[in-house]
Amino acid sequence: MTIIHNLGFPRIGKQRELKRAVESYWAGKLLSEDLLETGRQLRERHWQIQKSAGVDLVPVGDFAWYDQILEWTTLLGVVPARFAQDSAETVSLDTLFRMARGRAPSGTPAAACEMTKWFDTNYHYIVPEITPGQEFRIAREDLFEQVKDAAALGYNAKPVIPGPLTWLWLSKGDAFVNGAADEQKLALLPQLVTVYQQVFARFVEQGVNWVQIDEPILALDIPEAWLDAYADVYAQLKQNAPKLLLATYFEGLRNNASVLKDLAVDGVHVDAVRAPDQLESVAAQLHSGQVLSVGLIDGRNIWRTDLDAAAALIQKLKASLGERLWLAPSCSLLHVPVDLQGEDGLDAELYSWLSFAVQKLDELALLKHIVDDTLDAQGQAALDTQRKALQLRASSPRTHNPTVAARVAELATLSRDRAPFDKRIEAQNKRLGLPVFPTTTIGSFPQTQEIRKLRRDWRAGSLGDAAYEKAIRAEIEHVIRFQEEVGLDVLVHGEAERNDMVEYFGELLGGFAFTKNGWVQSYGSRCVKPPIIFGDVVRPAAMTVAWSQFAQSLTSLPVKGMLTGPVTMLQWSFVRDDQARSETCRQLALALRDEVSDLEAAGIHVIQIDEPAFREGLPLRKGDWNAYLDWAVDCFRISTSGIDDDTQIHTHMCYSEFNDIIDSIAAMDADVITIETSRSNMELLEAFENFDYPNDIGPGVYDIHSPNVPDQQWMVDLMRKAAKRLPAERLWVNPDCGLKTRGWEETGSSLKAMVSAAKELRKAVA
Ligand code: GLN
Ligand code: ZN
Repeated sequence: MTIIHNLGFPRIGKQRELKRAVESYWAGKLLSEDLLETGRQLRERHWQIQKSAGVDLVPVGDFAWYDQILEWTTLLGVVPARFAQDSAETVSLDTLFRMARGRAPSGTPAAACEMTKWFDTNYHYIVPEITPGQEFRIAREDLFEQVKDAAALGYNAKPVIPGPLTWLWLSKGDAFVNGAADEQKLALLPQLVTVYQQVFARFVEQGVNWVQIDEPILALDIPEAWLDAYADVYAQLKQNAPKLLLATYFEGLRNNASVLKDLAVDGVHVDAVRAPDQLESVAAQLHSGQVLSVGLIDGRNIWRTDLDAAAALIQKLKASLGERLWLAPSCSLLHVPVDLQGEDGLDAELYSWLSFAVQKLDELALLKHIVDDTLDAQGQAALDTQRKALQLRASSPRTHNPTVAARVAELATLSRDRAPFDKRIEAQNKRLGLPVFPTTTIGSFPQTQEIRKLRRDWRAGSLGDAAYEKAIRAEIEHVIRFQEEVGLDVLVHGEAERNDMVEYFGELLGGFAFTKNGWVQSYGSRCVKPPIIFGDVVRPAAMTVAWSQFAQSLTSLPVKGMLTGPVTMLQWSFVRDDQARSETCRQLALALRDEVSDLEAAGIHVIQIDEPAFREGLPLRKGDWNAYLDWAVDCFRISTSGIDDDTQIHTHMCYSEFNDIIDSIAAMDADVITIETSRSNMELLEAFENFDYPNDIGPGVYDIHSPNVPDQQWMVDLMRKAAKRLPAERLWVNPDCGLKTRGWEETGSSLKAMVSAAKELRKAVA
């Protein structure tokens, strides 16, 4: 019988129980015993779900209080000095929380560790912070206790841990010598491997059979020295260890597949959803004792699996590998919502197309029976339902819209070029009449409890349309007057009507659906509920024009229209898998193009299209970058090229390094780009300077993530620094991101200081 296993189950709980519990604990409202109990119950429930689905090996160690990498980092005793004042033998849960968030119910607050995106997902992990000469020791018992719990309950527990090379690759440290950090990090391997050996020895004592050791960096371009390290490291790890399953995912191994040859592991897991083509070449590397685990159920998306196609893909392998072929989801199910059941807001048809973590395990079990030819009547019925749902989806008129297809076809001949920037900016200056160092904001203004309640009540139906509209208009008027008083040059309407920059647009577009409980962990206790793009995207009516037009009617200063870009909408949604992402993105771009034209026709002559997720869409392998950048840039240009020269297009990006994609940023050809730079002291501008970036730039002059009011002189100095790199007449003055998380008072003081800074800068130019 074919073995099926799972790489990881979402830990947050169907009702986000983990989020609630940790947040209550942080707020001092829940005792640590009760927090621990919630965690224990969640783990048990999740093991039970997996076992009853028929999963042979259930993962242990996929649970985390904040992040699975942080769990491992603390198990290894890697605690930066600023958190370690209690010098205890073991790392406490509060120390873990302080590393993640800077503070916890006990212990002295200190600057939190850095957090960053987990490969190409929207999950964020806590970056391990290490030093040259870093020491390691087993400093937490949680994982071993969980293994014990699972075994006691009769589960066939498979611990899941980050591999040493992946963990080390992801780690960072200020004290490493620039340019030699890689080498210095690799020098830590012998000591690190010793502690892994100790962990494995403990597992052996605990009777663990298999360990899943995650090495997702094998999906990246990694240097030769790191690849070379694998053979030795795993040879040492194998000495006294349970069986090791080396797991890779998110991309194919490609050239990295060579490390598998003679690697001392008992099995390898590969992602056959992202990279089905690699199966044969990977199988060819394995020797006759090794297992090949094939990930066939998409752990990154929410569509039902085509089980017939999946079975066909591995048919030959099954014949050659027999029992050595295992089946699994492509990666941990951390990236999909917990359970589809209860999503009663979705219509029956759409519901039948979807599969969340719980359903994916049922699909996996079904696949096993297909492969083993052991389907019983019930299984056969389930398979029939599955097939029918897929057929319906493939032929549904809801996914394909001939009008959209026709418009996409027209793109073949549609020009995306606007007039040259020099000409445009001249026309724009004439129309807008802005001073040098013009001031603006990124779009949102403080979202108070009252505003959130307004939207909630309106959605719930307890507040009528007319009353809601009146209240939002009052808020827009307040925001406009506020900006006039502060003295800003280009105003915004404040985005009070938006809960979320993707959801807001998705709800107004055709082709999108929304769940009630489709939560996915983003970081720590923060979860997101990504929209589902299931069909061709259409814009039945203008989405933002009425609000922007109203805002513009209140003032003689220009009001900037505010849209979310096509790439960002794509990146932050679950996207249909029956056509290329680029195709879906083009449809989004066309909908936005219409919105941009309507805004212009309504008298809005500055329009910002936010693309904060532009960079995170980059593929994991550099060789794939250009293909992505080509269509991503093209989509932005589709959205923005249907207007007159004197309408000004802004874009905004945050948390981005621009160095390696600056030519694509320039190719987007926005008239103005606003970016985050204050935290990096304008260092980020280097890319724009070196490239000789031609259009206008608004380098954020203060960090909106902090409640502190920025000092005026400090902003002047920052802008002077910017003006050394770029021509002064190309520069705008603005905060580094939207203000929605800030309070009104600090926003007023901060923006006033910013406007005064701009005035001072102008004096020097005049
Ligand atoms: N316009 C958005 C806002 O101001 C931009 C948010 C973002 O960059 N993530 O909130
Ligand atoms: Zn931003």
